[in-house]
Amino acid sequence: MLGFLEKVADYTKEVVSAAKYLVDGLGVTFDHMRRRPVTVQYPYEKLIPSERYRGRIHYEFDKCIACEVCVRVCPINLPVVDWVMNKETKKKELRNYSIDFGACIFCGNCVEYCPTNCLSMTEEYELAAFDRHSLNYDNVALGRLPTSVTSDPSVRSLRELAYLPEGIIDPHELNANQKRAGKLPSQIINELKAEKSQEEDNNHSSNMVSNKSNPTN
Ligand code: SF4
Ligand code: SF4
Repeated sequence: MLGFLEKVADYTKEVVSAAKYLVDGLGVTFDHMRRRPVTVQYPYEKLIPSERYRGRIHYEFDKCIACEVCVRVCPINLPVVDWVMNKETKKKELRNYSIDFGACIFCGNCVEYCPTNCLSMTEEYELAAFDRHSLNYDNVALGRLPTSVTSDPSVRSLRELAYLPEGIIDPHELNANQKRAGKLPSQIINELKAEKSQEEDNNHSSNMVSNKSNPTN
C-alpha cells in the first residue's frame, strides 16, 4: 500500500512539474504575441546600412599607384598588388589588384591610408557565396559599382528598428497606435509629393492674386 502511495505521489509531482513547464512555455509564447516585431523579413525587407557602414571595398584601378601602403597597414597584409617594373620608364606598371573578402575583417585601414583615395568602403553587405574562393575579388570585381538597398525596387528597405517608436528599444507593452520611429521610404516619398503639390498650389494661387492686382498683365 505504501509503495502504491509513493508511486502516486511521484506521478503527481511529475504532472505538476510538466504543467509548470507548459505554463512557462506558453508564457513566453504569449509574451511574444503582444510585442511589436523587431525582425526584418529578409530578403523581402532589408535594412538600410548606416552612413559610415564598412561594407565591400570599392577599388579604382586607374587611380592606384601600386605603392602597397594598403598592404603594409592591413593587419593581415591582405591586399595583393601585382605589379612589374618598366625598365624604360623606371615606373611601376600595375597588373592586378585583389582583396580576399573571405579573410578581410573590414577594418578600413587600407581605405584610410591609401594616398590616392582609390579605395572606399561601400554599403554592400551581401557577400555570401557557395565557394569561399569566389570571395577573392580581383580588380574587375572590386571596381564594380556597389548595389544599394534603396535603389532595388524588389525589396522594401527599412531603417534600423523602424517598427518601434522613437527612443524605445523594448518591443513589449506598446500601444498599437504608437507611431514608429523611422519612416519607410514609401512614406517619405508620399510626404515629399504632398509637399510639392502644396507648393504648386501656393504658387498657383499667388499668381492668380498678382494677375488680379495687375489687370494690364
Ligand atoms: S594604397 Fe592605394 S594606391 Fe597604394 S597600392 Fe594600395 S590601393 Fe593602390
Ligand atoms: S579592410 Fe582591413 S583587413 Fe580588409 S583589406 Fe583593408 S586593411 Fe585589410
